[in-house]
Amino acid sequence: MADNIFAKIIRKEIPAKIVYEDERALAFRDVDPKAPIHILIVPKKDIARVSEAKAEDEPLLGHLLTVAAEIARKEGIDVTGYRVVINKGAHAGETVPHLHVHLLGGRPMNWPPG
Ligand code: 5GP
Repeated sequence: MADNIFAKIIRKEIPAKIVYEDERALAFRDVDPKAPIHILIVPKKDIARVSEAKAEDEPLLGHLLTVAAEIARKEGIDVTGYRVVINKGAHAGETVPHLHVHLLGGRPMNWPPG
């Protein structure tokens, strides 16, 4: 059983501000938000990072994105726009070894990212 922080949040062993849950995914507010809206969408399945997802996980990966879009509508950032981000590895700044999709919005963002 994984013991990283997001696995513990999924198992409800530690608290989080949960905004969405279904049988396959959980979404909660980032504890250190980088934008006015910063929500993390995670699969309940133990997948460490995107590079470790398998072909059988493709429907689950797609589900994470449709959940992100649904949350964005509920959070009121669908019209102004938002960014979805998956960090993989050191150069991207991955810090938690459980796959997570960042949903960021509520302010203009630069491109390319830093
Ligand atoms: P990464 O850098 O791995 O792509 O993103 C990890 C994110 O998890 C960071 O934005 C960080 O603020 C967030 N985070 C780390 N620990 C916790 C926690 O205990 N609770 C919540 N809600 N977010 C966390």
